[in-house]
Amino acid sequence: MATGNNMDGMQMDEGALVKQLQETLNRLPNDIPVYLFSTPGKDDIFTQGCRQVVQAFQNLSSKIKFQELTLDHELARKWKVESHPTLLLAPERYRIRWLGAPLGEEGRSFLEAVILLGLGDSRLNEQSRQIVQKIDEPRNVKIFVSPTCPYCPQQVVNGIKAVIEKPEYISLEIIDIQARQDLAEKYSAHSVPQAYANEKLIGQGAQQEELFMSSLQLLEPQTVFIPESTEELISNDLVIVGGGPAGLTAGIYAVRSGLKAALVEKDALGGQVALTPVVENYTGFTQVGGKTLVDIMVSHALEYVQIFKSEPVLDIKPGDPIQVTTSRRVFETRAVLLATGAAHRKLNVPGEQRLAGRGVSYCATCDGPLFKNKKVLMVGGGNSAVTEALHLSHMGVDVTVVHRRQSLRAQDMLTQRLEEAAIPVLWNTEIKEIAGDSKVQSVVLVNNRTGKSQILKVDGVFISIGFTPAVELAGKIGVELTAEGYIKHDEHYRTNIDGIYCAGDVSGGYKQIVVAAGQGSAAAMTIFEDLVNPYWKK
Ligand code: NAP
Repeated sequence: MATGNNMDGMQMDEGALVKQLQETLNRLPNDIPVYLFSTPGKDDIFTQGCRQVVQAFQNLSSKIKFQELTLDHELARKWKVESHPTLLLAPERYRIRWLGAPLGEEGRSFLEAVILLGLGDSRLNEQSRQIVQKIDEPRNVKIFVSPTCPYCPQQVVNGIKAVIEKPEYISLEIIDIQARQDLAEKYSAHSVPQAYANEKLIGQGAQQEELFMSSLQLLEPQTVFIPESTEELISNDLVIVGGGPAGLTAGIYAVRSGLKAALVEKDALGGQVALTPVVENYTGFTQVGGKTLVDIMVSHALEYVQIFKSEPVLDIKPGDPIQVTTSRRVFETRAVLLATGAAHRKLNVPGEQRLAGRGVSYCATCDGPLFKNKKVLMVGGGNSAVTEALHLSHMGVDVTVVHRRQSLRAQDMLTQRLEEAAIPVLWNTEIKEIAGDSKVQSVVLVNNRTGKSQILKVDGVFISIGFTPAVELAGKIGVELTAEGYIKHDEHYRTNIDGIYCAGDVSGGYKQIVVAAGQGSAAAMTIFEDLVNPYWKK
């Protein structure tokens, strides 16, 4: 007897499997119309493959309504089918097309598609459904696949579920890179699966359902998924404000100590590290992209601490409990850790604010690619300015460093690399004005030794002149600051207010990822000990 899948150690009869599949298909509430568009006289292996796969399904159940039409048929015009072979699935209700044939591993995608379309239900989990429901503009998805790729069906099924959930906005093309080498070449889809939405890459490799939906919604690849919470009042032991290395590490330590903790971040997680091109001095990593390091940290922290991102803290009322009000909820808590980090320092010259985002940038990682083959200045002489100048140069940007002194503050190794890359430096030079109508066109430079000024034509100005501590919240609740503007604290990271602590860049000292992480862990351990044995009651 022929045998099929080995399930739980039992050989399952192939006939029984077919029967089961037949029953599943026959139970589907909706018919599934499938159209194959082909060109007469061009019966290639892809067209034959499409026909065979669909006919095999049709033989199993009358729910599959198969029609083969030619490319000059009026329905091809109606549904804008232009290439051969193209399969359309339930085109009156959904926009799902296969360019190529659902052969090999893609047979699994086709089976899932048929079942979901027959059900007329996306079967998305609740988190994913909520994300897709936020999409209120068209998304044209392309997923590149190959018949030999076992990971591709997962990504294709993500796409199909998204279409079924929001058919009015989402369309899907499943593109077989063997049948459509021209498209694979055009999109540089040299590995599969690869997903694009509105011509932007949103996923490389198979993504977890929620990550695919978030990437689709935000139109950029997401690597970490943080579930949203609708709770309006949360009582816990600790609220960490800020999701950089200090806050994330504090979250891990606090929860491992037994505290119920939450981390609230007003923007994206990772703080300055997320914008750092490459990190080479975080122990254990010889070289790691800043964003990658952040993803690793966030995934680790999520194992322990509840994270609320894009949720600014609006107010903190000290007391017992301390009340922390965010844009979405209130926390009643016993301790607060301020790990709010630091914000980019501004040059404060005419034109800087007006042209921000129009050639003035504070993030080479984010904006550098827009300046390929263009001339830009990098202002600053510290580690950040040099790291970012090197990054821009590697990207093919024509970058010149502008520094107000005769020597750099950056570490020797970085300074050496700047020389090796032959990146010019304008020494003893300051920018007095940034000019341009709708975008940066020139700068006024002054040599602070000779007093001589000149106008230089440039396309962009990157500013990397250090950070100012983010102490707005701290100041609002009366936390004392140092003369330099950082949060004043004792050796245990306690501030002058009972139950309020600080860690990371906002607390002063060396601004290093490893230092911030260390401070976060130390502060969390102090908080645990203080909550068990409050120092303010001693
Ligand atoms: P930074 O070390 O404070 O250096 C700021 C630079 O900007 C200095 O060269 C400073 O000039 C210049 N500057 C400040 N205000 C200016 C103004 N108004 N006009 C013109 N120039 C001005 O800042 P950073 O480079 O952003 O680094 C911040 C912290 O992160 C540092 O502690 C740094 O060590 C750390 N970091 C470390 C790494 C690493 O370890 N690889 C990488 C990036 C950052 P002066 O020299 O004249 O003061």
